[in-house]
Amino acid sequence: MNNEHLQQLRHELEEELATLQQHIHEEPTVEDSELSSIDNHPADAATDLTTVTTEIALDEMKEDEIGKIRAALRAMDEGTYGKCIVCGKVIPFERLEAVPTALTCIDHVEEME
Ligand SMILES: [Zn+2]
Repeated sequence: MNNEHLQQLRHELEEELATLQQHIHEEPTVEDSELSSIDNHPADAATDLTTVTTEIALDEMKEDEIGKIRAALRAMDEGTYGKCIVCGKVIPFERLEAVPTALTCIDHVEEME
């Protein structure tokens, strides 16, 4: 992989990281739901709970993604980016372009998940 490709992917990862971090700190409206649920029909309270649960699940997904992006950026700093961390084979640029956080070749995807 040439330097231009590396810079392109780093830029993408950094933008993605910034976007995720911006959204992750938005507080779910738990307190509002709790206060308003006192007078509400139980069905409404259940709906609120589902919304909060979904928001927490989304946050966990974002945390997970942030972790992957940080690992990829660290690999770039260490000069190991673009090589499978399992077998050391060069990961094709097409794969990195599609999945910039990939740290393994196609053959070893499952060992990471
Ligand atoms: Zn591999």
